Amino acid sequence: MHAIRIAGAGPSGLAAAITLAKAGWPVEVFERNADVGMRFSGDLQGLENWSTKHDVLTDLSTFGLEVNFLCVPFSAVTVTDGVNQETYDRGRPLFYLVKRGSMADSIDQGLKRQALAAGVNIHFSTKLESQDADIIATGPLTDRLNWVDQGIVFDTNLPDMAVAMPHDEAGIGGYGYLLITRGYGCLCTVLFYDLARANECFENVKLTSAKLVNLDIRNERRVGGTASFTIKNRWENGPHRFVGEAAGLQDPLWGFGIRYALWSGYLAAQSIIQQRSYAQLAQKAFGNRNRAGVVNRYLWEKFRHRRNERVVQRIGRSADPFATLRSFYNFNLLQRLLYPAAKRKFLDKYPRLESI
Ligand SMILES: Cc1cc2nc3c(=O)[nH]c(=O)nc-3n(C[C@H](O)[C@H](O)[C@H](O)COP(=O)(O)OP(=O)(O)OC[C@H]3O[C@@H](n4cnc5c(N)ncnc54)[C@H](O)[C@@H]3O)c2cc1C
Repeated sequence: MHAIRIAGAGPSGLAAAITLAKAGWPVEVFERNADVGMRFSGDLQGLENWSTKHDVLTDLSTFGLEVNFLCVPFSAVTVTDGVNQETYDRGRPLFYLVKRGSMADSIDQGLKRQALAAGVNIHFSTKLESQDADIIATGPLTDRLNWVDQGIVFDTNLPDMAVAMPHDEAGIGGYGYLLITRGYGCLCTVLFYDLARANECFENVKLTSAKLVNLDIRNERRVGGTASFTIKNRWENGPHRFVGEAAGLQDPLWGFGIRYALWSGYLAAQSIIQQRSYAQLAQKAFGNRNRAGVVNRYLWEKFRHRRNERVVQRIGRSADPFATLRSFYNFNLLQRLLYPAAKRKFLDKYPRLESI
C-alpha cells in the first residue's frame, strides 16, 4: 500500500486524508502555508443546509468527520433592502456558521486535529506540484477568479443574527451579509461583477445594516478573498484526482463551496479505497447539481437590481421553503430547458469557464 500524497490542507484535502487514514491508508498531506486556514482570517462562513432533504451534519458523520469546531445552527434569517425587512424562521437550520482561519475553533483547525489523530502526516510550508499528487486539493483556480468577498470581522455586544442583503447595491451580482454569533461578527459584500467596486458595496452593506441594528463594531479586522468555479468540472487527469475548488467545485448561485469540498474529498478517498472511478462518483454527485447551479445563477442575474428581494421573499413565504430551495438543485425540467441559454450566457461572460 503506497502512501497517498495530497496537495493542500483545506477542507477538501483534509476530508480526503481523514477518510483514507481511517481506512488504514498511509497519507502524506503537503500544505504550502505554515498552518491550515491561512487563506482566511477568521471569516464566518455558512455550511449550507438547504440543498438536501437530510441535514448536512448527517453528511459529515457519513464522511467520518466530527464536529470539533465552532458550528452554530442558524434557522432564522432576516432579508432586507434597507427599507423593508422580513425574518424567516422555519425551525430547521438553513445553514451552520463556521469560522475559517488558523484559530483553534475554526473548521480548518478542527479538521487538522482529526487528521492528525487519524495518523495523517502533514508537511507544512511545503508545496507539492500537481504531477506529484494523488489528490489535488489546492483551492481556487487563480486564472479564473469569478467573485470577491470583502469585509470585516469584529467583536460586538449584539445578539446572534443572520442578515442577507440580496441586491446589487450590497454586492454587484451578489449580496451583502451580516452574521453575528457569540459576540463575534462578520460584515461583508460579495460581488460577481465590477469587482473593483467592492469598497463602495461594503459601505452600502454597512449603511443597510446600521438601519436595522445599532451596529456595535469593536476591534475590527479586514477579511475576505476571491474564489472560483467552472461550468465543466475537472475530476481526473491520469492518476491525479481533483477535489474542492481545484476541481472547479462551488455552487455558482451564491458561491458556497465548503460542503462540496468535504464531499468531493470523501469521494476521492472512497474511489481509492474501493478502487472505483472517481470521475463517475463525482459526476453522479455533482453533475446535475452544477448544471442546475448554472441555471440558478442565470436566473439570479436576470432578477438583479433589487428584484432579488422578491425572489427571496417568495421562497421564504412558500409553504415549505426548504422544498422550494431543494428543487433548485434537482436540475428539474425548467432548468433542463433553460440550461443551453444559461450556459451560453455564462460562456459569453467567462469564455474560459468551460474547460480547465
Ligand atoms: C471570502 C470567502 C467567503 C466564502 N464563504 C463561503 C461560505 O460562506 N460558505 C461556503 O460554503 N463557502 C464559502 N466560500 C468558499 C469556500 O471557502 C471554498 O469553497 C472552500 O474553502 C474550498 O475548499 P478547498 O479545500 O477546495 O480549498 P482551500 O480552502 O483553498 O484549501 C486549499 C489549500 O491548499 C493549499 N495549497 C495550494 N496550492 C498548494 C500546493 N501546490 N501545495 C501544497 N498546498 C497548496 C492552500 O494553501 C490551501 O490551504 C468562501 C470563499 C471565500 C474566498
